[in-house]
Amino acid sequence: MAPSGSCSIKRGCQRALYWIPVLFIALIVAWSYYAYVLQLCIESIEDIRQKVVYLLVYHAIFIMFVWAYWQTIFTKPMNPLKEFHLSYSDKELLEREDRGESQQEILRRIARDLPIYTRTNSGAIRFCDRCQLLKPDRCHHCSVCDKCILKMDHHCPWVNNCVGFSNYKFFMLFLAYSLLYCLFITATDLQYFIKFWTNGLPDTQAKFHILFLFFSASMFSVSLASLFTYHVWLVCKNRSTLEAVRAPVFRHGTDKNGFSLGVSKNFRQVFGDETKFWPIPIFSSLGDGCSFPSCLVNLDPEQPSSPSGSNPANKNAAEGRHFPSKLLRESQSRLLTSTPSWTESENAADKDKKGASNPGMTIENEA
Ligand SMILES: [Zn+2]
Ligand SMILES: [Zn+2]
Repeated sequence: MAPSGSCSIKRGCQRALYWIPVLFIALIVAWSYYAYVLQLCIESIEDIRQKVVYLLVYHAIFIMFVWAYWQTIFTKPMNPLKEFHLSYSDKELLEREDRGESQQEILRRIARDLPIYTRTNSGAIRFCDRCQLLKPDRCHHCSVCDKCILKMDHHCPWVNNCVGFSNYKFFMLFLAYSLLYCLFITATDLQYFIKFWTNGLPDTQAKFHILFLFFSASMFSVSLASLFTYHVWLVCKNRSTLEAVRAPVFRHGTDKNGFSLGVSKNFRQVFGDETKFWPIPIFSSLGDGCSFPSCLVNLDPEQPSSPSGSNPANKNAAEGRHFPSKLLRESQSRLLTSTPSWTESENAADKDKKGASNPGMTIENEA
């Protein structure tokens, strides 16, 4: 057995290495600030009005971009509430059973009191051996963080953090503002970039900063635009990156649209109800991250008819969290009951598809 000291040194080194991509981004951003503000705006632009407008707009975008990036990096991912962890007696009971089926029976009994609607591919209750807990819907174990992360999207090396329920809005804003940042630099730097090739710039080091600024901003714009478009599509469909790769499995079978409530409600689940908070990197997502409104929930005979119901998990949802609490009962009733979602044509089409491709669900429902 390796001594624990060398193990912790190894882990410490690994943790330090994980910060390299973040440091790389920070250095590029710091250089872009120097190149744009000092070399382009102050040194190269002569028109004072243009200088002031460029600097004001640039700084507004820069502050929002850095703020969103900071929030994505330093917002701790949320882990399942204690209600999802096995109690001491349940742990003992589970250890005593060596047959998979008897263990599943125990887990099924515990899951009955929890808002859990998704299953493994084989139809079993999703259980994390490592954290000793029943995984809430959309929760996954991250091997880098070594924890179960609520509504895990992916582990992002560029922010050295798990992107999940607690910071998905921040991640979206980070993508949006970084794209805006690059597009603004590309657009305002373009005429000076052209001047570089037509020998219209004075022969100082500023011209090389202007050249590289244009190249890097336009290249980052392309990759950020594709990533941002993909995540906008995911938000509209109410899917995480992991769910886009592998659709969630419900008791009635796989359903990639299982959590979709229509574009506008899907968007509000991530960005919240209040328009004024949408562009600001402060937490405003709806729900508690442990349970999610789904049009399929009421079809699950093993579970309470509402995911918030009498479930104790929701009561303490926001306890000890830094986020403004919005219980699912409130958000779900708003998301599930108000009218527009079901009248949306896309959703109607989805529902038809579901009915056609999943006859088991219809049978359950009729029974
Ligand atoms: Zn886990
Ligand atoms: Zn992670």
